[in-house]
Amino acid sequence: MIRRPLQKTIPSLSIVLMAFLLQGCYNEETPRAVILVSIDGLHPDYLDTLHTPNLLEIAANGVHPDYMEPVFPTKTFPNHYSLITGLYPANHGIVNNSMYDPDLGLSFRLSDREAVSDHRWWKGEPLWITVQKQNRTSATYFWPGSEAPIQGMRPTYWMEYDSSLPYGARIDSAMVAITRSPRPALVTIYFSAVDSRGHEFGPDATETREALREIDGQVGNLIARLREEGLENEVNIVVVGDHGMAATSSEEVVLVDDYIDLEEVYITDLGPIGLFNVKDSTRVESLLADLNKMPHARWFKRGHLPAELRYSGSTRISDLVGIADDGWQMATKSRFESNPDFYSGGNHGYEPWHQSMHTVFIAYGPQFKQGLKSHGFSLIHVYELLCAVLDIEPAENDGNLDEVVHFLQTETG
Ligand code: AMP
Ligand code: ZN
Ligand code: ZN
Repeated sequence: MIRRPLQKTIPSLSIVLMAFLLQGCYNEETPRAVILVSIDGLHPDYLDTLHTPNLLEIAANGVHPDYMEPVFPTKTFPNHYSLITGLYPANHGIVNNSMYDPDLGLSFRLSDREAVSDHRWWKGEPLWITVQKQNRTSATYFWPGSEAPIQGMRPTYWMEYDSSLPYGARIDSAMVAITRSPRPALVTIYFSAVDSRGHEFGPDATETREALREIDGQVGNLIARLREEGLENEVNIVVVGDHGMAATSSEEVVLVDDYIDLEEVYITDLGPIGLFNVKDSTRVESLLADLNKMPHARWFKRGHLPAELRYSGSTRISDLVGIADDGWQMATKSRFESNPDFYSGGNHGYEPWHQSMHTVFIAYGPQFKQGLKSHGFSLIHVYELLCAVLDIEPAENDGNLDEVVHFLQTETG
């Protein structure tokens, strides 16, 4: 056996040590990061070269499944919070945009500042907490849940929701955040205009497409600025919607007062879905039978919805849940007669498997494959996917990385 002289071993050890340290520095200087952009109410059919050249460019150079299927109910708050926790609404607590919790004795509405910042509504672990627990930072230029101290924590940088904050200012804030040291793992941006125009004018309207064209321009601006900062190959951009939009008409409305006496129920929601609590519990079966006489909708008792909807196990789900046919809406006579035009345009909330409720997922950046087209997948897997992209340990959730691991450059994440 030939013994190497010691003086030869020492330099090689120091080279190994130096390489190790350099590797450590390198990793610290290029920590993984995601900018998560939500375009509310974005339907896959809206993507075209005229209105969305920037989205199509990143789709062509990144990962672009045919569609992303939302969760039930196909509303903004339940879906945004499922995206960021990987939990179904019954498990994360945000079972609808408006709901009633019999244990808290409180009602929740997305426009109620006090409710949205009350941590008792928000269960599970949003991604910003997962990253913060693993010594990374986060910034939200809006995301449902970000205003509440969940598990005692808000995102590192966050703002009260302000629907009037110009979209350019949201991009500016995201750029300030992503160029901070240490670099945040997660930065979110939210845009509402496609959803609002979709409600008012319908999914096929010029106004809806024009709103998207402006947002697409903002996405283009974001990419250009990341390029200028030399971050294009370091930061991943993930663009998501939360649900689609079905065309609606005041001709396709069912009036619930024709079937039951409204004095018998508390109405928590009524439109594409209905959420009713029954004042006298002995009347549940009879009211259910009467509601099921209405055409173009199906009503269920809590705990008896189709299993695929995963809508059970929360006391916040009302006694009776109604779901209208795609594009149909339910209303009370007085609400309908006071503003029939409100019922024409677009709406959402229906079962997630309708094509109209599908939404968009586009991912682009160093951790994602380039030019991968793929079949549709469920929004429930996004949290697991983002944890893999960021190389962090996910909290317990309902998603499955196996369903989406093929989106990633290296299939181990
Ligand atoms: P939806 O009708 O379910 O699509 O809800 C869309 C509305 O949710 C938009 O008009 C937004 O203004 C509102 N919204 C979105 N994010 C937030 C938030 N973080 N806080 C309060 N309202 C929000
Ligand atoms: Zn929405
Ligand atoms: Zn909406």
